[in-house]
Amino acid sequence: MTGAQAGGPADFESLFHKAPCGYLVTDDGGSITAVNETFAHWSGYAPTELLGTRLQSLMPVGDQMLYSTHCIPQLGIAGAISEIAVEIIAADGRRRAALLSASRSPGSPQHAASVRVIIFSAHERRMYEKELVSALREAEESEARRAQAETELQHLAFHDALTGLPNRAGLKAKLKTVLADRPPAGGTLAALFIDLDHFKAVNDSLGHAAGDELLKSVAQRLAPAAGESRTVARLSGDEFLVLDVFGSAEEATALAARILDVLSAPILLEGLEIVTSASIGVAVSGNEPENLDDLVRRADIAMFRAKALGRNRWEIHQHAESDPTVDRLRALGELRRGISDGDLRVHYQPRVDLRTGHASGVEALVRWQHPTRGLLPPSEFITMAEESGLVRPLGAWVLDETLRQAASWRREGRRAAELDVAVNLSARQLNDPGLVTMVEDALRLARIDPAVLLLEITETALMADPGAALESLTALKKLGVGLAVDDFGTGYSSLTYLKKFPIDELKIDRSFIGGLDSDHGDAAIVGSCIELAHAVGLRAVAEGVETSGQLRTLKEMGCDLAQGFHFSRPLPAPRLKEWLDAHPGGGKDFQ
Ligand code: C2E
Ligand code: CA
Ligand code: CA
Repeated sequence: MTGAQAGGPADFESLFHKAPCGYLVTDDGGSITAVNETFAHWSGYAPTELLGTRLQSLMPVGDQMLYSTHCIPQLGIAGAISEIAVEIIAADGRRRAALLSASRSPGSPQHAASVRVIIFSAHERRMYEKELVSALREAEESEARRAQAETELQHLAFHDALTGLPNRAGLKAKLKTVLADRPPAGGTLAALFIDLDHFKAVNDSLGHAAGDELLKSVAQRLAPAAGESRTVARLSGDEFLVLDVFGSAEEATALAARILDVLSAPILLEGLEIVTSASIGVAVSGNEPENLDDLVRRADIAMFRAKALGRNRWEIHQHAESDPTVDRLRALGELRRGISDGDLRVHYQPRVDLRTGHASGVEALVRWQHPTRGLLPPSEFITMAEESGLVRPLGAWVLDETLRQAASWRREGRRAAELDVAVNLSARQLNDPGLVTMVEDALRLARIDPAVLLLEITETALMADPGAALESLTALKKLGVGLAVDDFGTGYSSLTYLKKFPIDELKIDRSFIGGLDSDHGDAAIVGSCIELAHAVGLRAVAEGVETSGQLRTLKEMGCDLAQGFHFSRPLPAPRLKEWLDAHPGGGKDFQ
C-alpha cells in the first residue's frame, strides 16, 4: 500500500484507500508520508510522485501562506482540527478546490499531521463550505457517526440542498454516464446557462425565505420544461445549467426559448404575484472536442451578453468567436499559473546617493518571464493583477524574494551588503487588512533588519483615502521599515497630510525629471519638490534620470538620491553585482 501504516488490518487499508475523501499524512516538515487512492486519483498524480512531496508545494502561493499561518500552528495543539479552503494544483495544471482538515494523528509520533482533503469544485465551494465544515466537525466527534456523515457528505457534494437538483459535481458525474450511453455521434453537446433577472431585488425586498421559495419554484418549472431525461443543475445562487446532448444547435436554442416561456408565468410569493424572467446563454460544442468547463464558460459569456442586451432573452456563443472576456480570463489564468510556477523575476535598479556617488540601495521591480511572450514589464500585467486581487500573492512574492536577496547579499559581504531595498506596494495592497502581518512575516522569514526595507506607495494611492492610508502607514512604520511616496507630483497631496504621514522620502515623478534639461516649468516644480521635502524633514529622490545634464541640475538643487538609466537599467541580481564592481563609486563615477 502507498505508505499507509504497514501491518494495519486489511479492512483499514481498504477503508483508507476507498474513502470518499482524500487522505494524506505528512511528517513534521510537511512532506507527504502516506496518501490514499482517492486523493491520488483526484489530483492526477501517481502516489509515488506524491510521497516525499511537500503538501504546500501543491498549492498556489497565496494558499501556501494560508496553510502555514492557519494550519501549521494548530498542529502543535493536541486534538485541534484546523480547516481551510484551498486550491490544489492538479497534475494537469488545473486548480481544484478542496477543503483541508488537518489534525495531529493520535498516537503516531512519527506523523505530525493527518490531513483530510474534501474534494469539490470551485462553484460549490461558495455554497457548501459551511455545510461541509460543520459536517466534518460532526464526523470528527465520534467514529461511529463518521461513516454516516460521510455518506451525507457525498450526497451534499453532488446535490443542491435547496432545490434537490444536482450541483456541478453531480452534473458531471451524471454526464459521464450520459456520454457513455449515448456518445454524441450525430448529436452535439450543448450548455444552457440560465441566470435569473433581478433575483437580488427579490431577495433584498422580500427576504431570503422568499428568495429561496422563488428558486424552488423556478427549479420545479425548469425540470419539466427541459424534459424528463435532460439534466438540470443548480450551479450557485440564481444560476442554473442544462448540459446535455442535443440533436442540433436549434434544438438547444428552442429549449432556451421554451424555458423563457415557462418562467414568464407569475409565481405566487408571500401573497404577491411575482413575474420573473431569466437571461440564457447557449453554447454548442463544435466538431473539435472541447472540455466541459470551456463549454460552460462560453455559455456563461453568452448569458452576460443576453443580460447586456436587455435580459429575458437567450444568446448563443459561436465557437470561433474571439471574446475579450475569454482573452482576459485566459491571461488571468496564465498570470495565476505564472505566479505559482515561479515565472516571476525581480530586477534591481540602483539608487545613487548624490553626496557620495555610491549606490546606497536598489529598487525591486517585478517582471514576468512569460512562457511564450518573453520577459514582460509590469505595465503588461500589474493592472490585471490589481483588478483581480492577484497582486496580493504577487506582492507577497516580490517582498519575500527581495528580502531573501538582501539577506543573501548581506551574508556575502562586500559592496552589495550595504544596499537597502525598496519594494513597491500597490493601492490594493495598502487596503489589505493582512498587509502588516504579511510584511512582518516576510521580515522575520528573511531575518533581516526592518530598517533595510523601504516601501514605496504612490501619491495617488495615498490620497485616495488619506485617513485609511494614515492608519496603514502608522502600523507599517511601527515595524521599523522606511516609507516613500512614489510618483510624487502626479497626485494632489496636501501639505497637511504630508506632515501627518510617517514617511521618510519623496520620489519625484520621472515625468518632471525628463523636462529638467529643457523645460523651465519642470525645473521649477522639481526645485520646489526638493525644498518641500527638506522643509518637512524628508529625503528627496529623483527617478528617471537619463542624462548628465539632469544629474548636474539635481545636484545643484540639493537632491539627495537619484535613480535612472543614466546610472543603470533595472538588472537581475547577478548583473547588479557586476555593475557594483564596475562602479566602485567615490563620487567621481557619475558626473
Ligand atoms: P515605478 O515604481 O515608478 O518604477 C520606476 C519605473 O521607471 C520602472 O519601470 C523603471 O524601469 C523605470 N525607469 C527607471 N529609470 C528610468 C529612466 O531613466 N527612464 C525611464 N523612461 N524609465 C526609467 P518598470 O520596471 O516598467 O515599472 C513600472 C511600474 O510598475 C513601477 O513604476 C511600479 O509602479 C510598478 N511596479 C514594478 N514592480 C512592482 C511590484 O513589485 N509591485 C507593484 N505593486 N508595482 C510594481
Ligand atoms: Ca517605485
Ligand atoms: Ca515612480
